[in-house]
Amino acid sequence: MLVDSHCHLDFDAFQEDFDGVLARAGDAGVGTMVTICTRLSRFADVRRIAETNANIWCSVGVHPHEAAAEGVDDPAALLELAAHPEVVGIGETGLDYYYEHSPREAQDISFRAHIAAARESELPLIVHARNADVDTMRILREEHAKGPFPGVIHCFTASRQLADAAIDIGLYVSFSGILTFKNATTIQETAAELPIDRILVETDAPYLAPAPNRGKRNEPSFVAHTAAYLAGLRGETAAGIADITTENFFRLFSKAQPPA
Ligand SMILES: [Zn+2]
Ligand SMILES: [Zn+2]
Repeated sequence: MLVDSHCHLDFDAFQEDFDGVLARAGDAGVGTMVTICTRLSRFADVRRIAETNANIWCSVGVHPHEAAAEGVDDPAALLELAAHPEVVGIGETGLDYYYEHSPREAQDISFRAHIAAARESELPLIVHARNADVDTMRILREEHAKGPFPGVIHCFTASRQLADAAIDIGLYVSFSGILTFKNATTIQETAAELPIDRILVETDAPYLAPAPNRGKRNEPSFVAHTAAYLAGLRGETAAGIADITTENFFRLFSKAQPPA
């Protein structure tokens, strides 16, 4: 069994063939998915998807792109929504200096409020970090010093230093389809060398489809390609990597129940 630890099933890209997407995920061995919240105004839709599908869980949070418009400065709102039984993580949150759709200060404030919610709820923080390695490391370390929190750096594209810093404070690292891209040699080296018990896989669907589907709409079934590629890097079988990453997922996302 495989887990897609990060996808966006509420997005319009899945409107037309939602049932087919889930059927193909099942056929590919994807037994569990987490559909990730990007703004609180979308949370009701995200949660409904989790409530109506036994093998789909959800998160609550505000993407750094939305930090100016909808960012949170107080963990209370997140904690209240996170009490729902379908909510297994806090995020996605973090810093995106590549697009910088929101000012950096707004991203910082919202990121820290999410960390406080993860610390308080003990639900894993789902971190988006793009072109912001130094500040991401600084904030994670400063906040960790106030008290530990579980979490994952999702869709990992950062430096080895950020991966090591994250592992150091107990976080996990999740690899998306980017791992399979020809020019992603640094990410591949990181994926080959990190502690095997801290690695997850994800699609971030509908974005970033792995090879051989690069450029197409991504969907949870494609996580099998990323897992197979990771297996090759690690000298493991595909089944072995599926088992390890699934075990890692349920250790980190401990509120999610494995399928019966
Ligand atoms: Zn992201
Ligand atoms: Zn995402």
